[in-house]
Amino acid sequence: MVLDDLYREVILDHYRSPRNKGTLAEYTAEVELSNPVCGDEITLYLKVVDNTIDEIRFEGRGCSISQASASMMTEAVKGKPVDEALKIISEFHGMMKGDITADQVELGDLEALQGVAKFPVRIKCALLSWEALQQGLSK
Ligand code: ZN
Repeated sequence: MVLDDLYREVILDHYRSPRNKGTLAEYTAEVELSNPVCGDEITLYLKVVDNTIDEIRFEGRGCSISQASASMMTEAVKGKPVDEALKIISEFHGMMKGDITADQVELGDLEALQGVAKFPVRIKCALLSWEALQQGLSK
């Protein structure tokens, strides 16, 4: 197992200083999900206004992959139109499944998570917050 690859510096940075962490006083969707295999928990708060993700925050605990992925996800979709966010979700899923590589898409910091795709048991960790986002957007 190549730990250097899995815990890239950018992942640790998001884990130690998560972006958009906390709750929202007003939100349009709240989704709570867990990954029992690893013990990861995510609660996502979304405020969608005029088909745009106006605000997004999350609370959670668990491994560095799950929490860093949530932090990166909120940065990637905040302020974006819902259809653009759905496209990012599908690209991220594709990268995690190994269907597409990071250089085929513009995922910014999220590309650091590409190494996780090599560790099937951790893919669920990385995808947890994204599943929450998808559910929140379809509410
Ligand atoms: Zn995990």
